[in-house]
Amino acid sequence: MTTAVVVGSGPNGLAAALTLAAEGVRVRVVEASDVLGGGIRSSELTLPGLIHDECSGIHPLGPGSAFAERFDLAGAGLIWRWAPAEFSHPLDGGRGAVAVRSVAATAAGLDDGGRGWQRTFGPLAERFGAISQEFLQPVLHVPRHPLHLARFGAHAGLPGTLLARLLGSPDAQALFIGVAAHAFRPLNTLASSAIGVALTTAAHAFGWPVAEGGSAAIRDAVLVRAAEHGVEFETGRRVTSLDELGSPDLVMLDTAPAAAARIAGDRMPARVRRAYTRYRHGPGAFKVDYAVEGGIPWTHEASRSACTVHLGGTVAEIAAAERDVVAGRMPARPFVLVGQQYLADKTRSAGGVHPVYSYAHVPAGFTGDATEAITAQIERYAPGFRERIRGMHVRSTSDMSRHNENYVAGDIVSGANDPWQLVFRPRAALDPYATGIPGVYLCSAATPPGAGAHGMCGYNAARRALARL
Ligand SMILES: Cc1cc2nc3c(=O)[nH]c(=O)nc-3n(C[C@H](O)[C@H](O)[C@H](O)COP(=O)(O)OP(=O)(O)OC[C@H]3O[C@@H](n4cnc5c(N)ncnc54)[C@H](O)[C@@H]3O)c2cc1C
Repeated sequence: MTTAVVVGSGPNGLAAALTLAAEGVRVRVVEASDVLGGGIRSSELTLPGLIHDECSGIHPLGPGSAFAERFDLAGAGLIWRWAPAEFSHPLDGGRGAVAVRSVAATAAGLDDGGRGWQRTFGPLAERFGAISQEFLQPVLHVPRHPLHLARFGAHAGLPGTLLARLLGSPDAQALFIGVAAHAFRPLNTLASSAIGVALTTAAHAFGWPVAEGGSAAIRDAVLVRAAEHGVEFETGRRVTSLDELGSPDLVMLDTAPAAAARIAGDRMPARVRRAYTRYRHGPGAFKVDYAVEGGIPWTHEASRSACTVHLGGTVAEIAAAERDVVAGRMPARPFVLVGQQYLADKTRSAGGVHPVYSYAHVPAGFTGDATEAITAQIERYAPGFRERIRGMHVRSTSDMSRHNENYVAGDIVSGANDPWQLVFRPRAALDPYATGIPGVYLCSAATPPGAGAHGMCGYNAARRALARL
């Protein structure tokens, strides 16, 4: 019987394990933490009864992914929930913009009637199923939908600030730039629109859902399927060398590239080791979870019903803040993402006290305390917020990498999303999952299609490994 060891149990490690096991491979997963799941964990971080997502919270690419469909995660107990609005962007003075599932309704709410928004995202949203099939795999492939991919690429290749200008009124521009900022990139650089275009289009096609009961419910559904296929687990064991793993036919590394090079040691060809150790990481995230009595009193009314709220002001302000963090400077007013998952999933609150999730973009390895900067950004758009705080949990960039060593210096997107690494991650190779060692593959979010709790990196890597077998 073919055997495999998967190192790491994040969404990609679990997806790889399940994909191999479903084809008859005997799989063992070894996880450094005492808890399985990596970026799909949830717990009572602030007060008893309040469920907070420790890492990933919102899942634009979860429901439609080939992995979720192939293994029928819904049938294994995973329930997706949607808030009334997908994401919003408050501006000073109670103004702002909001995106709902319908492109037309979103456009109608924008100051100029949203002609640019409709023209850009309408056609992409109609074809999102085909487009996402293309970008959820390595860039170097023969496309099944070349025209759709070309339309997507024409927008994705633009600088975020340029695409924002093409969208029209300042509220439309701000609404888009908040999503583009998920890339953790200077927003005036080539292809800094790519992640914003993908996620905005996903919002109009599938919405931005949360998992009922917390993101750990995604892990639990995968574990149900893994148990059906006999996958074995060992927690609390950090792998430092391939030699510790016996001699399985396959090894799948759900780790950062430099960690994979350390684990493989001399067995890794020098050119691959060089590429892995030179792999560039992005800036960091500083996370604060709050317990909030009665929720956040946003002045911009529509933000009270949006699952995700992007804070940071105008395009110019956010572009400047992102430029600063990439250059290693902490901005006074950082870009902040606020998650109000409880609006979609009532099981996460305790009476009138709700779990609020937030993180700021900060320089890689930032050693200061961004708690006040985050609270002040929320207070700026929701006066009275401070008085409603009943509990708080803070995770700095170093806490982040202690919690999960894949988040190098607090980089939660597993690698800089610069144009080169958007196309060739983790290195330029026909098979981006191959490590140059027969039977050993990298399957983390440092491989295509990149960050997110969709499991597609692990799924793709396992399929490549099976094809090679
Ligand atoms: C604060 C935060 C917010 C996020 N928000 C979102 C979001 O809203 N939506 C979204 O889709 N994504 C989000 N992400 C990103 C998402 O969580 C990651 O992209 C995803 O978890 C990556 O999955 P992975 O399997 O590659 O690695 P991880 O989830 O990082 O898991 C890697 C696992 O491997 C283990 N491991 C590492 N090295 C070893 C070793 N040597 N031996 C044994 N075990 C090892 C780690 O302990 C960990 O459990 C967020 C991440 C963070 C931190």
